[in-house]
Amino acid sequence: MKKKLVKVLAGCGISFFAAVAVFGTNNIQAEAAAAKPAKTAVVLKTKKATVKSGTQKQIKAVVKNANGKAVKWTSSNSRVASVTKKGVVKGKKNGKATIRVKVLGTNASASCTVTVKRYKVIRVKTTGYCPGACCNGSNPGITALGTRLKPGRTIAVDPRVIPLRSNVEINGHVYRAEDTGGAIKGNRIDILFSSHAKADRWGVRYVNVKVYY
Ligand SMILES: [Zn+2]
Repeated sequence: MKKKLVKVLAGCGISFFAAVAVFGTNNIQAEAAAAKPAKTAVVLKTKKATVKSGTQKQIKAVVKNANGKAVKWTSSNSRVASVTKKGVVKGKKNGKATIRVKVLGTNASASCTVTVKRYKVIRVKTTGYCPGACCNGSNPGITALGTRLKPGRTIAVDPRVIPLRSNVEINGHVYRAEDTGGAIKGNRIDILFSSHAKADRWGVRYVNVKVYY
């Protein structure tokens, strides 16, 4: 009934202020509701994602008050990461892309930054070393790149197999190839530990590692 009144008023060209004067605040609210349907909104469950090249990831969009309007997905750089009509992101090559979803015919949109990483898997023999002189000779504490040895980050590699500055994932942890060693030749990785005892405990292990490049 209130809605009907508002429509009639609008048709007669009675101003907003006149409506206030005549009907009070309840009718203003009714008028606002009739003129403006609930605002369309879209939210992405993921704001940042990492996708390995050659793999894909579903990004979920939550759309509110779309009133049947369709959504459209776009990528700022389809050569890095493309996106399907259903929000499935496909990693293509190293780089970053912004994936955006828009509710067509509205201003509602949301975006997600996708980083695509490329890697190769190689099988290596791993051993451990420590920051001390026992393992580093005349140059304790400093890597081949001149950075400080840091347990949990530093690994020594053969740069002909793993380029220096590569990120290398070993058992789910990402290390940085920033050191070399006389005995580290071919498919070998020496993992830096905080103490010699811990390095000894690691012993010799053969593992598949991911080298990002
Ligand atoms: Zn040592």
